[in-house]
Amino acid sequence: MQHAINRRVPRREQLTMDPLRGIPASPGIALGPSFVIRQPSLKVDRDTVKDPKAELERLESALELGRQQLNDLVTQTQEEIASSEAAIFDAHAMFLDDPALLDRVRQAIQTDRLNAPAAWKDSIEHFAQQMEAVDDEYLRARASDIRDVGRRVLRILLGKEDSEAARLSTPSIIIARDLAPSDTVQLNRELVLGFGTAEGGATSHTAILAKALGLPAVVGVGPKLTQIGPGVDLILDGNEGSVWVAPDREMQDEFRARQAKAHVVSVENQKHAHAPAVSLDGVQVEIVANIGSLDDSRTALDMGAEGVGLLRTEFLYLDRQSAPTEQEQTLAYQAILDVMGDRPVVVRTLDVGGDKPLPYLQVEEEQNAFLGWRAIRMCLDEPEFFKIQLRALWRSSPGHDLRIMFPMIATVDEVRQARALLDEARNEVLNAGHAISDSVQVGIMVEIPSVAILSDLMAPEVDFFSVGTNDLTQYTLAADRTNQRVARLGDACHPAVLRQIRDVTQAAHAHGKWVGVCGELAGDSAGIPILLGLGLDELSMTPHAIPAAKAQIRRWSAKDAERLAKEALSLASAEGVRQLVSANQA
Ligand code: PEP
Ligand code: MG
Repeated sequence: MQHAINRRVPRREQLTMDPLRGIPASPGIALGPSFVIRQPSLKVDRDTVKDPKAELERLESALELGRQQLNDLVTQTQEEIASSEAAIFDAHAMFLDDPALLDRVRQAIQTDRLNAPAAWKDSIEHFAQQMEAVDDEYLRARASDIRDVGRRVLRILLGKEDSEAARLSTPSIIIARDLAPSDTVQLNRELVLGFGTAEGGATSHTAILAKALGLPAVVGVGPKLTQIGPGVDLILDGNEGSVWVAPDREMQDEFRARQAKAHVVSVENQKHAHAPAVSLDGVQVEIVANIGSLDDSRTALDMGAEGVGLLRTEFLYLDRQSAPTEQEQTLAYQAILDVMGDRPVVVRTLDVGGDKPLPYLQVEEEQNAFLGWRAIRMCLDEPEFFKIQLRALWRSSPGHDLRIMFPMIATVDEVRQARALLDEARNEVLNAGHAISDSVQVGIMVEIPSVAILSDLMAPEVDFFSVGTNDLTQYTLAADRTNQRVARLGDACHPAVLRQIRDVTQAAHAHGKWVGVCGELAGDSAGIPILLGLGLDELSMTPHAIPAAKAQIRRWSAKDAERLAKEALSLASAEGVRQLVSANQA
Protein backbone atom coordinates (compact mmCIF):
# COMPACT_ATOMS: atom_id res chain seq x y z
CA MET A 1 0.00 0.00 0.00
CA GLN A 2 1.36 3.43 -0.89
CA HIS A 3 1.31 6.30 1.55
CA ALA A 4 1.57 9.44 -0.50
CA ILE A 5 1.77 12.48 1.74
CA ASN A 6 -1.67 14.06 1.24
CA ARG A 7 -3.84 16.13 3.53
CA ARG A 8 -7.44 15.05 3.98
CA VAL A 9 -9.80 16.95 6.26
CA PRO A 10 -10.48 14.67 9.23
CA ARG A 11 -14.13 13.69 9.38
CA ARG A 12 -14.65 14.91 12.91
CA GLU A 13 -13.98 18.48 11.81
CA GLN A 14 -17.24 18.34 9.88
CA LEU A 15 -19.19 18.11 13.16
CA THR A 16 -20.73 21.38 14.15
CA MET A 17 -21.96 21.36 17.78
CA ASP A 18 -19.28 21.98 20.43
CA PRO A 19 -18.78 19.14 22.88
CA LEU A 20 -17.68 19.35 26.51
CA ARG A 21 -14.02 18.44 26.56
CA GLY A 22 -12.16 16.34 29.11
CA ILE A 23 -9.34 13.83 29.33
CA PRO A 24 -9.72 10.67 27.23
CA ALA A 25 -9.39 8.01 29.94
CA SER A 26 -10.52 4.85 28.19
CA PRO A 27 -11.11 4.51 24.43
CA GLY A 28 -14.39 3.81 22.62
CA ILE A 29 -17.67 5.54 21.83
CA ALA A 30 -20.91 5.35 23.86
CA LEU A 31 -24.35 6.69 22.96
CA GLY A 32 -27.22 6.67 25.41
CA PRO A 33 -29.08 8.47 28.17
CA SER A 34 -27.29 9.92 31.19
CA PHE A 35 -27.56 8.32 34.60
CA VAL A 36 -26.41 10.89 37.11
CA ILE A 37 -24.90 9.80 40.40
CA ARG A 38 -24.87 12.54 42.99
CA GLN A 39 -23.30 12.05 46.35
CA PRO A 40 -25.98 12.26 49.07
CA SER A 41 -25.44 15.34 51.17
CA LEU A 42 -23.86 14.39 54.46
CA LYS A 43 -24.37 17.46 56.58
CA VAL A 44 -22.43 17.29 59.80
CA ASP A 45 -23.31 19.40 62.85
CA ARG A 46 -20.41 20.25 65.12
CA ASP A 47 -21.30 19.60 68.73
CA THR A 48 -19.38 19.46 71.96
CA VAL A 49 -20.10 16.16 73.66
CA LYS A 50 -20.50 15.51 77.34
CA ASP A 51 -19.60 11.86 77.18
CA PRO A 52 -16.54 11.37 74.94
CA LYS A 53 -16.41 7.68 75.94
CA ALA A 54 -19.85 7.03 74.41
CA GLU A 55 -18.81 8.99 71.32
CA LEU A 56 -15.66 6.87 70.98
CA GLU A 57 -17.80 3.74 71.16
CA ARG A 58 -20.07 5.17 68.47
CA LEU A 59 -17.00 5.70 66.31
CA GLU A 60 -15.66 2.18 66.94
CA SER A 61 -18.92 0.51 65.98
CA ALA A 62 -19.20 2.62 62.79
CA LEU A 63 -15.63 1.63 61.92
CA GLU A 64 -16.45 -2.01 62.55
CA LEU A 65 -19.49 -1.87 60.29
CA GLY A 66 -17.41 -0.05 57.66
CA ARG A 67 -14.80 -2.84 57.77
CA GLN A 68 -17.52 -5.47 57.41
CA GLN A 69 -19.02 -3.68 54.39
CA LEU A 70 -15.61 -3.39 52.79
CA ASN A 71 -14.85 -7.08 53.33
CA ASP A 72 -18.15 -7.93 51.64
CA LEU A 73 -17.22 -5.63 48.77
CA VAL A 74 -13.82 -7.35 48.42
CA THR A 75 -15.54 -10.74 48.04
CA GLN A 76 -18.21 -9.38 45.69
CA THR A 77 -15.65 -7.55 43.52
CA GLN A 78 -13.33 -10.54 43.33
CA GLU A 79 -16.22 -12.64 42.04
CA GLU A 80 -17.59 -10.06 39.63
CA ILE A 81 -14.66 -8.03 38.33
CA ALA A 82 -11.02 -8.60 39.09
CA SER A 83 -8.75 -8.89 42.04
CA SER A 84 -7.05 -5.59 41.14
CA GLU A 85 -10.41 -3.89 41.72
CA ALA A 86 -10.94 -5.79 44.96
CA ALA A 87 -7.54 -4.52 46.09
CA ILE A 88 -9.02 -1.01 46.18
CA PHE A 89 -11.45 -2.05 48.90
CA ASP A 90 -8.69 -3.90 50.70
CA ALA A 91 -6.75 -0.63 50.71
CA HIS A 92 -9.87 1.17 52.03
CA ALA A 93 -10.20 -1.37 54.84
CA MET A 94 -6.51 -0.90 55.66
CA PHE A 95 -7.03 2.83 55.85
CA LEU A 96 -9.69 2.28 58.52
CA ASP A 97 -6.93 0.76 60.68
CA ASP A 98 -4.39 3.49 59.97
CA PRO A 99 -2.97 4.57 63.35
CA ALA A 100 -2.33 8.16 62.22
CA LEU A 101 -5.97 8.56 61.19
CA LEU A 102 -7.42 6.83 64.25
CA ASP A 103 -5.18 8.77 66.66
CA ARG A 104 -6.30 12.03 65.13
CA VAL A 105 -10.03 11.23 65.34
CA ARG A 106 -9.83 9.80 68.85
CA GLN A 107 -7.90 12.81 70.04
CA ALA A 108 -10.47 15.18 68.53
CA ILE A 109 -13.20 13.33 70.43
CA GLN A 110 -11.33 12.90 73.69
CA THR A 111 -9.39 16.14 73.94
CA ASP A 112 -11.51 18.56 71.93
CA ARG A 113 -14.77 16.81 72.92
CA LEU A 114 -15.96 16.93 69.34
CA ASN A 115 -18.86 14.71 68.24
CA ALA A 116 -17.79 11.61 66.27
CA PRO A 117 -19.11 12.67 62.80
CA ALA A 118 -17.37 16.07 62.97
CA ALA A 119 -14.13 14.57 64.32
CA TRP A 120 -14.19 11.93 61.59
CA LYS A 121 -14.99 14.35 58.78
CA ASP A 122 -12.20 16.77 59.82
CA SER A 123 -9.61 14.02 59.98
CA ILE A 124 -10.57 12.52 56.62
CA GLU A 125 -10.40 15.95 55.01
CA HIS A 126 -6.98 16.54 56.60
CA PHE A 127 -5.52 13.36 55.06
CA ALA A 128 -7.29 13.80 51.71
CA GLN A 129 -5.91 17.33 51.39
CA GLN A 130 -2.43 16.13 52.29
CA MET A 131 -2.66 13.59 49.49
CA GLU A 132 -3.98 16.18 47.05
CA ALA A 133 -0.98 18.41 47.70
CA VAL A 134 1.38 15.72 46.48
CA ASP A 135 2.91 16.42 43.09
CA ASP A 136 1.96 13.05 41.66
CA GLU A 137 -1.08 12.23 39.62
CA TYR A 138 -1.42 8.67 40.96
CA LEU A 139 -1.25 9.69 44.60
CA ARG A 140 -3.55 12.68 44.08
CA ALA A 141 -6.10 10.27 42.67
CA ARG A 142 -5.87 8.36 45.98
CA ALA A 143 -7.35 11.40 47.76
CA SER A 144 -10.71 10.41 46.30
CA ASP A 145 -10.25 6.92 47.78
CA ILE A 146 -9.73 8.49 51.21
CA ARG A 147 -12.87 10.59 50.79
CA ASP A 148 -14.77 7.53 49.58
CA VAL A 149 -13.93 5.46 52.63
CA GLY A 150 -14.53 8.57 54.75
CA ARG A 151 -18.05 8.98 53.36
CA ARG A 152 -18.79 5.31 54.02
CA VAL A 153 -18.11 5.67 57.74
CA LEU A 154 -19.79 9.08 57.85
CA ARG A 155 -22.94 7.64 56.28
CA ILE A 156 -22.95 4.94 58.93
CA LEU A 157 -22.44 7.51 61.69
CA LEU A 158 -25.30 9.63 60.33
CA GLY A 159 -27.55 6.66 59.57
CA LYS A 160 -27.86 7.60 55.85
CA GLU A 161 -28.63 5.41 52.82
CA ASP A 162 -25.93 4.00 50.54
CA SER A 163 -25.13 5.49 47.09
CA GLU A 164 -27.84 5.78 44.43
CA ALA A 165 -25.75 3.72 41.99
CA ALA A 166 -27.79 0.62 42.79
CA ARG A 167 -30.85 2.20 41.09
CA LEU A 168 -29.43 1.97 37.56
CA SER A 169 -32.02 0.00 35.55
CA THR A 170 -31.56 0.87 31.84
CA PRO A 171 -28.43 1.00 29.65
CA SER A 172 -26.90 4.41 30.40
CA ILE A 173 -23.81 6.59 30.43
CA ILE A 174 -22.81 7.17 34.03
CA ILE A 175 -22.20 10.82 34.92
CA ALA A 176 -20.77 11.96 38.25
CA ARG A 177 -18.56 14.54 39.84
CA ASP A 178 -16.06 11.79 40.59
CA LEU A 179 -16.92 8.13 40.81
CA ALA A 180 -15.91 6.34 43.93
CA PRO A 181 -15.14 2.61 43.99
CA SER A 182 -18.11 2.01 46.27
CA ASP A 183 -20.42 3.64 43.69
CA THR A 184 -19.09 1.66 40.78
CA VAL A 185 -19.23 -1.67 42.55
CA GLN A 186 -22.97 -1.22 43.06
CA LEU A 187 -23.61 -0.49 39.38
CA ASN A 188 -25.06 -3.25 37.28
CA ARG A 189 -22.21 -3.44 34.78
CA GLU A 190 -24.37 -4.97 32.06
CA LEU A 191 -26.17 -1.62 31.90
CA VAL A 192 -23.15 0.70 31.85
CA LEU A 193 -22.32 2.13 28.41
CA GLY A 194 -19.55 4.47 29.50
CA PHE A 195 -18.35 6.88 32.18
CA GLY A 196 -18.02 10.66 32.31
CA THR A 197 -16.72 12.51 35.35
CA ALA A 198 -16.27 16.20 36.09
CA GLU A 199 -13.13 15.58 38.14
CA GLY A 200 -10.32 13.05 38.09
CA GLY A 201 -7.31 12.44 35.88
CA ALA A 202 -6.08 9.69 33.61
CA THR A 203 -5.18 7.53 36.63
CA SER A 204 -8.39 8.10 38.61
CA HIS A 205 -10.45 5.18 39.78
CA THR A 206 -12.98 5.72 36.97
CA ALA A 207 -10.20 5.54 34.40
CA ILE A 208 -8.74 2.36 35.88
CA LEU A 209 -12.15 0.70 36.13
CA ALA A 210 -13.26 1.74 32.64
CA LYS A 211 -10.07 0.33 31.13
CA ALA A 212 -10.49 -2.91 33.08
CA LEU A 213 -14.06 -3.24 31.76
CA GLY A 214 -13.13 -2.13 28.23
CA LEU A 215 -15.69 0.72 28.38
CA PRO A 216 -15.18 4.30 27.13
CA ALA A 217 -14.53 7.02 29.69
CA VAL A 218 -13.90 10.75 29.69
CA VAL A 219 -12.71 12.30 32.95
CA GLY A 220 -11.84 15.79 34.19
CA VAL A 221 -14.60 17.41 32.07
CA GLY A 222 -15.26 20.19 34.60
CA PRO A 223 -18.34 21.36 36.50
CA LYS A 224 -20.53 21.75 33.40
CA LEU A 225 -20.83 17.99 33.26
CA THR A 226 -22.61 17.79 36.60
CA GLN A 227 -25.27 20.21 35.35
CA ILE A 228 -26.53 17.50 33.01
CA GLY A 229 -29.83 16.12 34.22
CA PRO A 230 -30.86 12.46 34.27
CA GLY A 231 -32.04 10.79 31.04
CA VAL A 232 -30.42 13.33 28.67
CA ASP A 233 -29.10 11.84 25.41
CA LEU A 234 -25.31 11.88 25.30
CA ILE A 235 -22.46 10.87 23.04
CA LEU A 236 -19.28 10.08 24.91
CA ASP A 237 -16.10 9.74 22.88
CA GLY A 238 -13.34 8.17 24.96
CA ASN A 239 -10.87 8.39 22.08
CA GLU A 240 -11.01 12.17 21.85
CA GLY A 241 -12.16 13.00 25.40
CA SER A 242 -15.44 14.65 24.32
CA VAL A 243 -19.02 14.57 25.56
CA TRP A 244 -21.86 15.84 23.33
CA VAL A 245 -25.01 16.80 25.22
CA ALA A 246 -28.38 16.26 23.49
CA PRO A 247 -26.82 15.68 20.05
CA ASP A 248 -29.12 15.92 17.02
CA ARG A 249 -30.19 12.92 15.02
CA GLU A 250 -27.56 13.39 12.34
CA MET A 251 -24.75 13.47 14.86
CA GLN A 252 -26.07 10.38 16.60
CA ASP A 253 -26.18 8.54 13.27
CA GLU A 254 -22.63 9.65 12.52
CA PHE A 255 -21.33 8.34 15.86
CA ARG A 256 -23.35 5.16 15.67
CA ALA A 257 -21.70 4.47 12.34
CA ARG A 258 -18.25 5.20 13.85
CA GLN A 259 -19.04 2.96 16.80
CA ALA A 260 -20.13 0.08 14.55
CA LYS A 261 -17.04 0.49 12.39
CA ALA A 262 -14.76 0.61 15.44
CA HIS A 263 -16.38 -2.55 16.75
CA VAL A 264 -15.76 -4.43 13.51
CA VAL A 265 -12.16 -3.19 13.43
CA SER A 266 -11.53 -4.11 17.05
CA VAL A 267 -12.93 -7.64 16.60
CA GLU A 268 -10.76 -8.04 13.52
CA ASN A 269 -7.65 -6.67 15.32
CA GLN A 270 -8.21 -8.96 18.28
CA LYS A 271 -8.31 -11.97 15.90
CA HIS A 272 -4.75 -11.20 14.80
CA ALA A 273 -3.48 -9.92 18.15
CA HIS A 274 -1.29 -12.96 18.72
CA ALA A 275 0.52 -12.71 15.39
CA PRO A 276 3.69 -10.60 15.17
CA ALA A 277 3.62 -6.98 14.00
CA VAL A 278 5.42 -7.07 10.65
CA SER A 279 5.33 -4.13 8.25
CA LEU A 280 4.42 -4.58 4.57
CA ASP A 281 8.11 -4.71 3.70
CA GLY A 282 8.97 -7.27 6.35
CA VAL A 283 10.22 -5.18 9.30
CA GLN A 284 9.12 -6.65 12.64
CA VAL A 285 8.60 -4.48 15.70
CA GLU A 286 8.35 -6.24 19.04
CA ILE A 287 5.07 -5.28 20.72
CA VAL A 288 5.11 -5.62 24.48
CA ALA A 289 3.08 -4.39 27.44
CA ASN A 290 3.35 -1.83 30.20
CA ILE A 291 2.11 -3.49 33.36
CA GLY A 292 1.87 -2.72 37.05
CA SER A 293 0.55 -5.92 38.61
CA LEU A 294 0.19 -9.67 38.23
CA ASP A 295 -3.35 -9.22 36.87
CA ASP A 296 -2.01 -6.93 34.17
CA SER A 297 0.46 -9.59 33.05
CA ARG A 298 -2.42 -11.97 32.29
CA THR A 299 -4.35 -9.25 30.43
CA ALA A 300 -1.15 -8.49 28.49
CA LEU A 301 -0.93 -12.07 27.23
CA ASP A 302 -4.64 -12.10 26.28
CA MET A 303 -4.07 -8.94 24.25
CA GLY A 304 -1.15 -10.45 22.33
CA ALA A 305 1.82 -8.94 24.21
CA GLU A 306 5.12 -10.54 23.21
CA GLY A 307 6.56 -9.71 26.60
CA VAL A 308 6.68 -6.86 29.08
CA GLY A 309 8.48 -3.66 28.12
CA LEU A 310 7.86 -1.91 31.43
CA LEU A 311 6.92 -3.43 34.77
CA ARG A 312 6.34 -0.49 37.08
CA THR A 313 7.41 -1.92 40.45
CA GLU A 314 5.81 0.88 42.48
CA PHE A 315 2.74 -1.31 43.07
CA LEU A 316 4.81 -3.28 45.59
CA TYR A 317 5.77 -0.17 47.57
CA LEU A 318 2.72 2.10 47.62
CA ASP A 319 -0.33 1.90 49.91
CA ARG A 320 1.56 0.32 52.80
CA GLN A 321 3.28 1.24 56.04
CA SER A 322 6.59 -0.62 55.62
CA ALA A 323 8.88 -1.52 52.74
CA PRO A 324 8.32 -4.89 51.00
CA THR A 325 10.87 -7.50 52.04
CA GLU A 326 13.32 -9.23 49.70
CA GLN A 327 11.32 -12.46 49.94
CA GLU A 328 8.01 -10.71 49.26
CA GLN A 329 9.47 -8.96 46.23
CA THR A 330 11.11 -12.13 44.93
CA LEU A 331 7.76 -13.94 45.02
CA ALA A 332 5.95 -11.03 43.33
CA TYR A 333 8.48 -10.83 40.47
CA GLN A 334 8.57 -14.61 40.11
CA ALA A 335 4.76 -14.74 39.81
CA ILE A 336 4.82 -12.26 36.93
CA LEU A 337 7.84 -13.88 35.26
CA ASP A 338 6.11 -17.27 35.51
CA VAL A 339 3.04 -15.90 33.69
CA MET A 340 5.29 -14.51 30.96
CA GLY A 341 7.31 -17.76 30.59
CA ASP A 342 10.37 -17.20 28.43
CA ARG A 343 9.15 -13.90 26.98
CA PRO A 344 11.27 -10.82 27.77
CA VAL A 345 10.25 -8.90 30.89
CA VAL A 346 11.76 -5.47 31.52
CA VAL A 347 11.48 -4.64 35.20
CA ARG A 348 11.99 -1.01 36.10
CA THR A 349 13.56 -0.45 39.49
CA LEU A 350 11.73 1.74 41.96
CA ASP A 351 10.58 5.09 40.60
CA VAL A 352 9.37 7.00 43.66
CA GLY A 353 10.70 9.86 45.70
CA GLY A 354 9.85 13.50 46.16
CA ASP A 355 6.78 13.29 43.96
CA LYS A 356 5.62 9.85 45.18
CA PRO A 357 6.50 9.78 48.90
CA LEU A 358 6.52 6.56 50.89
CA PRO A 359 5.60 6.65 54.58
CA TYR A 360 8.61 4.49 55.50
CA LEU A 361 11.21 6.63 53.72
CA GLN A 362 12.32 10.01 54.97
CA VAL A 363 11.55 12.19 51.97
CA GLU A 364 11.39 15.91 52.55
CA GLU A 365 8.81 17.98 50.74
CA GLU A 366 10.41 19.56 47.69
CA GLN A 367 9.49 22.65 45.72
CA ASN A 368 10.18 20.98 42.39
CA ALA A 369 9.52 17.34 43.04
CA PHE A 370 9.89 16.38 39.39
CA LEU A 371 13.38 17.87 39.45
CA GLY A 372 14.14 16.48 42.84
CA TRP A 373 15.25 13.48 44.83
CA ARG A 374 13.48 10.61 43.18
CA ALA A 375 13.90 7.27 41.41
CA ILE A 376 17.54 6.34 40.77
CA ARG A 377 18.76 9.43 42.65
CA MET A 378 17.05 8.28 45.82
CA CYS A 379 18.02 4.63 45.28
CA LEU A 380 21.71 5.48 44.82
CA ASP A 381 21.64 7.50 48.04
CA GLU A 382 19.97 4.61 49.89
CA PRO A 383 22.06 1.66 48.64
CA GLU A 384 20.99 -0.84 51.32
CA PHE A 385 17.31 -0.12 50.64
CA PHE A 386 17.90 -0.32 46.87
CA LYS A 387 19.82 -3.59 47.08
CA ILE A 388 16.79 -5.33 48.61
CA GLN A 389 15.02 -4.86 45.28
CA LEU A 390 18.11 -5.73 43.25
CA ARG A 391 18.66 -8.99 45.18
CA ALA A 392 15.00 -9.89 44.74
CA LEU A 393 15.35 -9.34 41.00
CA TRP A 394 18.42 -11.59 40.76
CA ARG A 395 16.66 -14.26 42.79
CA SER A 396 13.64 -14.21 40.49
CA SER A 397 15.76 -14.45 37.32
CA PRO A 398 16.46 -18.20 36.80
CA GLY A 399 14.66 -19.65 33.81
CA HIS A 400 13.40 -16.29 32.55
CA ASP A 401 14.41 -13.50 30.19
CA LEU A 402 14.65 -10.82 32.86
CA ARG A 403 15.87 -7.35 31.94
CA ILE A 404 16.55 -4.75 34.60
CA MET A 405 16.00 -1.07 33.82
CA PHE A 406 16.99 2.02 35.79
CA PRO A 407 14.63 5.03 35.71
CA MET A 408 15.41 8.77 35.62
CA ILE A 409 19.06 8.37 34.67
CA ALA A 410 20.67 11.77 34.01
CA THR A 411 24.40 10.98 33.88
CA VAL A 412 26.87 8.29 32.80
CA ASP A 413 28.13 8.15 36.34
CA GLU A 414 24.69 7.18 37.65
CA VAL A 415 24.59 4.22 35.26
CA ARG A 416 27.98 3.05 36.51
CA GLN A 417 26.98 3.42 40.15
CA ALA A 418 23.70 1.58 39.61
CA ARG A 419 25.49 -1.23 37.78
CA ALA A 420 28.04 -1.47 40.60
CA LEU A 421 25.24 -1.91 43.15
CA LEU A 422 23.62 -4.48 40.88
CA ASP A 423 26.91 -6.42 40.86
CA GLU A 424 27.15 -6.21 44.65
CA ALA A 425 23.59 -7.50 44.95
CA ARG A 426 24.45 -10.33 42.54
CA ASN A 427 27.40 -11.44 44.69
CA GLU A 428 25.30 -11.26 47.83
CA VAL A 429 22.65 -13.46 46.26
CA LEU A 430 25.25 -15.98 45.06
CA ASN A 431 26.94 -15.99 48.49
CA ALA A 432 23.57 -16.71 50.07
CA GLY A 433 23.40 -19.84 47.89
CA HIS A 434 20.68 -18.76 45.43
CA ALA A 435 20.72 -19.56 41.72
CA ILE A 436 20.63 -16.72 39.20
CA SER A 437 20.35 -16.36 35.45
CA ASP A 438 23.60 -15.45 33.71
CA SER A 439 21.91 -13.58 30.86
CA VAL A 440 20.14 -10.68 32.54
CA GLN A 441 20.23 -7.55 30.38
CA VAL A 442 20.68 -4.15 32.00
CA GLY A 443 19.29 -0.96 30.48
CA ILE A 444 18.16 2.54 31.24
CA MET A 445 15.16 4.71 30.58
CA VAL A 446 15.67 7.76 28.42
CA GLU A 447 13.54 10.30 30.24
CA ILE A 448 15.94 13.21 30.66
CA PRO A 449 17.29 15.14 27.66
CA SER A 450 20.89 14.83 28.93
CA VAL A 451 20.70 11.09 28.20
CA ALA A 452 19.41 11.63 24.68
CA ILE A 453 22.07 14.27 24.02
CA LEU A 454 24.84 11.98 25.31
CA SER A 455 23.32 8.78 23.96
CA ASP A 456 26.53 7.90 22.08
CA LEU A 457 28.37 7.89 25.42
CA MET A 458 25.54 6.12 27.22
CA ALA A 459 25.16 3.30 24.69
CA PRO A 460 28.41 1.44 25.57
CA GLU A 461 27.29 1.37 29.24
CA VAL A 462 23.99 -0.48 28.68
CA ASP A 463 22.36 -3.41 26.89
CA PHE A 464 19.33 -1.37 25.85
CA PHE A 465 17.49 1.95 26.03
CA SER A 466 13.76 2.45 26.59
CA VAL A 467 12.46 5.94 25.89
CA GLY A 468 9.99 7.16 28.52
CA THR A 469 8.26 9.78 26.41
CA ASN A 470 5.99 10.87 29.29
CA ASP A 471 8.87 12.27 31.30
CA LEU A 472 11.09 13.06 28.30
CA THR A 473 8.33 15.34 27.01
CA GLN A 474 7.83 17.12 30.32
CA TYR A 475 11.56 17.74 30.71
CA THR A 476 12.10 18.74 27.09
CA LEU A 477 9.26 21.26 27.01
CA ALA A 478 9.48 22.21 30.71
CA ALA A 479 5.79 21.37 31.11
CA ASP A 480 4.80 19.61 34.36
CA ARG A 481 2.89 16.51 33.25
CA THR A 482 0.40 16.85 36.12
CA ASN A 483 -0.44 20.50 35.48
CA GLN A 484 -3.52 20.75 33.26
CA ARG A 485 -2.77 24.38 32.43
CA VAL A 486 0.36 23.46 30.52
CA ALA A 487 -0.99 20.15 29.20
CA ARG A 488 -1.16 21.45 25.65
CA LEU A 489 2.63 21.91 25.65
CA GLY A 490 3.31 18.38 26.78
CA ASP A 491 2.63 16.50 23.57
CA ALA A 492 5.12 13.70 22.89
CA CYS A 493 4.61 14.21 19.14
CA HIS A 494 6.64 17.40 19.44
CA PRO A 495 9.54 17.31 16.96
CA ALA A 496 11.91 18.24 19.81
CA VAL A 497 11.02 14.91 21.44
CA LEU A 498 10.98 12.97 18.18
CA ARG A 499 14.43 14.21 17.22
CA GLN A 500 15.80 12.92 20.52
CA ILE A 501 14.23 9.53 19.82
CA ARG A 502 15.95 9.53 16.43
CA ASP A 503 19.33 10.33 18.02
CA VAL A 504 18.96 7.70 20.72
CA THR A 505 17.95 5.06 18.18
CA GLN A 506 20.91 5.85 15.95
CA ALA A 507 23.34 5.78 18.89
CA ALA A 508 21.92 2.49 20.18
CA HIS A 509 22.10 0.81 16.80
CA ALA A 510 25.62 2.10 16.14
CA HIS A 511 26.64 0.20 19.29
CA GLY A 512 24.61 -2.92 18.49
CA LYS A 513 22.06 -2.22 21.27
CA TRP A 514 18.27 -2.39 21.03
CA VAL A 515 15.95 0.50 21.77
CA GLY A 516 12.27 0.70 22.65
CA VAL A 517 9.68 3.26 23.67
CA CYS A 518 7.57 2.68 26.78
CA GLY A 519 5.93 6.11 27.20
CA GLU A 520 2.36 6.71 26.02
CA LEU A 521 3.60 7.64 22.54
CA ALA A 522 4.28 3.95 21.84
CA GLY A 523 0.55 3.15 21.89
CA ASP A 524 -0.58 6.39 20.24
CA SER A 525 -1.78 5.94 16.65
CA ALA A 526 -0.06 9.21 15.70
CA GLY A 527 3.24 8.00 17.17
CA ILE A 528 3.33 4.43 15.89
CA PRO A 529 4.16 5.02 12.19
CA ILE A 530 6.79 7.60 13.15
CA LEU A 531 8.43 5.22 15.60
CA LEU A 532 8.37 2.49 12.96
CA GLY A 533 10.01 4.96 10.58
CA LEU A 534 12.67 5.91 13.13
CA GLY A 535 13.65 2.25 13.44
CA LEU A 536 12.55 1.47 17.02
CA ASP A 537 12.95 -2.23 17.86
CA GLU A 538 10.27 -2.45 20.51
CA LEU A 539 7.09 -0.58 21.49
CA SER A 540 5.61 -1.06 24.94
CA MET A 541 2.07 0.06 25.73
CA THR A 542 -1.03 -0.50 27.83
CA PRO A 543 -2.24 -4.05 27.02
CA HIS A 544 -5.57 -2.97 25.46
CA ALA A 545 -3.74 -0.87 22.85
CA ILE A 546 -1.76 -3.84 21.52
CA PRO A 547 -4.15 -5.36 18.93
CA ALA A 548 -4.70 -1.99 17.20
CA ALA A 549 -0.98 -1.10 17.31
CA LYS A 550 -0.04 -4.40 15.66
CA ALA A 551 -2.70 -3.89 13.00
CA GLN A 552 -1.42 -0.38 12.31
CA ILE A 553 2.17 -1.55 11.79
CA ARG A 554 0.95 -4.22 9.37
CA ARG A 555 -0.66 -1.49 7.22
CA TRP A 556 2.59 0.45 6.78
CA SER A 557 5.79 -0.20 4.92
CA ALA A 558 8.86 0.76 6.92
CA LYS A 559 10.12 2.71 3.91
CA ASP A 560 6.98 4.90 3.81
CA ALA A 561 7.12 5.26 7.57
CA GLU A 562 10.73 6.42 7.29
CA ARG A 563 9.69 9.12 4.82
CA LEU A 564 6.85 10.14 7.12
CA ALA A 565 9.20 10.32 10.12
CA LYS A 566 11.66 12.43 8.14
CA GLU A 567 8.94 14.90 7.25
CA ALA A 568 7.62 14.92 10.84
CA LEU A 569 11.09 15.77 12.16
CA SER A 570 11.27 18.76 9.86
CA LEU A 571 8.06 20.29 11.27
CA ALA A 572 7.89 22.88 14.02
CA SER A 573 4.99 21.68 16.19
CA ALA A 574 3.27 18.64 17.67
CA GLU A 575 -0.02 19.67 16.03
CA GLY A 576 1.73 19.74 12.68
CA VAL A 577 3.04 16.23 13.27
CA ARG A 578 -0.40 14.94 14.30
CA GLN A 579 -2.01 16.49 11.22
CA LEU A 580 0.65 15.00 9.00
CA VAL A 581 0.15 11.49 10.37
CA SER A 582 -3.63 11.79 10.35
CA ALA A 583 -3.57 12.82 6.71
CA ASN A 584 -1.46 9.79 5.86
CA GLN A 585 -2.97 7.04 7.99
CA ALA A 586 -3.64 3.90 6.04
C1 PEP B 1 7.65 7.67 31.04
O1 PEP B 1 8.10 8.59 31.73
O2 PEP B 1 7.41 7.77 29.82
C2 PEP B 1 7.35 6.37 31.66
C3 PEP B 1 6.99 5.33 30.92
O3 PEP B 1 7.42 6.30 33.02
P1 PEP B 1 6.25 6.83 34.01
O4 PEP B 1 5.06 7.19 33.14
O5 PEP B 1 5.99 5.69 34.92
O6 PEP B 1 6.91 8.00 34.64
MG1 MG C 1 8.81 8.23 33.75
